[in-house]
Amino acid sequence: MPSPKRKHSKARRDKRRANWKLTIPGLVECPQCHAEKVPHHVCPVCGFYKGKSIVQAKTED
Ligand SMILES: [Zn+2]
Repeated sequence: MPSPKRKHSKARRDKRRANWKLTIPGLVECPQCHAEKVPHHVCPVCGFYKGKSIVQAKTED
């Protein structure tokens, strides 16, 4: 079994680990109210999921 000739430096290892959260999680447009929402989640604005009202949308009071 060949093995690595040199141990990677801590800087190299940490640079690799620093990159994993660079892309933000995707946001999709709600088909009901066209607000941006997290995919596969109930829309926080209108409370709709898959064309049905699941939860009552937050009212400002
Ligand atoms: Zn919505």
